[in-house]
Amino acid sequence: MRPRTVLALVAALLALVLPLLLPVFQVTLLTNIAITSITVIGLVLLTGISGLTSFGQAAFMGVGAYTTAVLTTQYGWNPWLTLPAGMALTAVIANVLGLITLRMQGHYLPLATIAWGISLYYVFGNSPKLGGFTGLREIPPVSLFGLVLDQPREFVYLALAFLALAIVAAQFLLSSRFGRAMRALRSGTVVAEAFGANTFTLRVQVFVLSAVMASVAGWLYAHQQRFVNPTPFGLNVGIEYLFMAVLGGSAYVWGGVAGAVLITLLREVLQDVLPRLLGENSNYEVVVLGVLIILTLQFARRGLWPLVERWVPAGTPRLLAHALTFPHRPAPATGSPVLRVRNAVKQFGGLKAVNDVSFDVNAGEIVGLIGPNGAGKSTMFNLVTGVNPATSGTVEVLGQSVGRQPARAIHRLGVARTFQHVKLFPELSLLENTMMGGYSRASAGILRSMLHLERREEAALQQLALTQLERVGLREQAFTQAGNLALGQQRLLEIARALVADPSFLLLDEPAAGLRFGEKQDLSALLKKLRGEGVTILIVEHDMDLVMNLVDRLVVMNSGQELAQGTPPQVRGNPAVREAYLGAEV
Ligand code: ADP
Ligand code: MG
Repeated sequence: MRPRTVLALVAALLALVLPLLLPVFQVTLLTNIAITSITVIGLVLLTGISGLTSFGQAAFMGVGAYTTAVLTTQYGWNPWLTLPAGMALTAVIANVLGLITLRMQGHYLPLATIAWGISLYYVFGNSPKLGGFTGLREIPPVSLFGLVLDQPREFVYLALAFLALAIVAAQFLLSSRFGRAMRALRSGTVVAEAFGANTFTLRVQVFVLSAVMASVAGWLYAHQQRFVNPTPFGLNVGIEYLFMAVLGGSAYVWGGVAGAVLITLLREVLQDVLPRLLGENSNYEVVVLGVLIILTLQFARRGLWPLVERWVPAGTPRLLAHALTFPHRPAPATGSPVLRVRNAVKQFGGLKAVNDVSFDVNAGEIVGLIGPNGAGKSTMFNLVTGVNPATSGTVEVLGQSVGRQPARAIHRLGVARTFQHVKLFPELSLLENTMMGGYSRASAGILRSMLHLERREEAALQQLALTQLERVGLREQAFTQAGNLALGQQRLLEIARALVADPSFLLLDEPAAGLRFGEKQDLSALLKKLRGEGVTILIVEHDMDLVMNLVDRLVVMNSGQELAQGTPPQVRGNPAVREAYLGAEV
């Protein structure tokens, strides 16, 4: 058995046995931890994984708690009906908040969640129908199969069962197409969009998911306490949840649990010990917790869970069987236009990075785009792939005008690329990095992923990724972290990722930089083989030997302008090109 499986079994066993062994007071503490953990796991998915910060999770718990409190005490609803009602209400609110704030980059979401956290507290406190600051009491207990869960020793199992579901669903989500896209969000939107993801929708979905998880926790809380008031749903509690995620390890599901356990227990201990040391009226545990957080950030940036993981190696993941087959994209007819650039201009302030460039790439060709550093080659790639719109002129890819279309739309036409400044996910394995290339070939959304109903699709992505890793010579390292590779190998990994997308048109930005001679020859052979399979290639490369022996035609740029075009011998003989390269051998 793998160490991780053993750990999970131990946790499950403890969850079953502890409620029987502990005194009632501690059983209640365990329930609190389970409920808190659910909220914090939602926050892990949002913050640690997807890079979005929310201070408003306690307020979302409040929505779940107050929904059930009102519907059960004032309208006589069964708690099992108020649960989906609270989740739905939370989803609507989170959707609205997300749609307003997530389009904007930067700090709008954290600020909006602060405002949300503060205002909801006062809404709860000032609504007579919600009991004001004294709250609502006599919330009925939850019954399950005729059993009334009104004792701490009974209710704890309900809370733990929900926690187990949350852990499993979060882990399932993270090991899916959707989860990989979430991880991609953390380092910006360029890669996710380049492989077909709508990062705005993705962010809203993740935000709604984390809010709904908090809402479920709030429902549990209401039926544990059988009483609600505004205090546990205020902004400072929302901040404490963020503390828990950061302390435990915000990039790990179990880190969220660890943070909830640690801070809950620590607060208990401190509330017991500090008054004895510092006098009865002291309220110093907040200060001590704050200092602890600062120390953790100083000495264990990624929180405490990674320290545990070091002792419990993950082992090699199992590969899935039973893959479905994705359809292969038919290649455009040989010689048909794949790229038409006409008088393209890209201006950055006063600088014309691309200045009136026109050229074509036809199906079945390998075209080289060369020129000195700063010539505008990478900028041209961004114009073609939809990362930046051209200031003027037209770019047509596979029969469609790029215009202001987003990168994901261009990708879905059959365009895949690599980046000059490698954009990989260093903590993910080569396999997972490569699988990201197949994002737009698969279709599983958030729900199917959380339930692992997309395993045949996932299996297909794994197989595609392994095939492409084999082609670039990285199959052996499939399960190691991408960050361990030398830069040259990372470029090859980006090629594998692009190939998983089954592109008709492949754009490579300096793919051979950092490769050894033999590796360059292998790369050259691979690209020729791809051309034979109908893939059209546009390549930026500085190694002239490689380029001259590989490409059918060349486009030469200098200072944003097009200097020359032609076959390798024509370009080699062009005096203007020679001059631009200052006598360097072309
Ligand atoms: P190449 O890939 O040929 O080396 P680039 O396309 O990266 O050249 O850059 C061309 C010029 O455009 C450079 O002077 C660069 O500094 C400038 N440039 C590129 N991207 C931007 C940007 N986003 N904002 C401002 N200037 C840019
Ligand atoms: Mg460049």
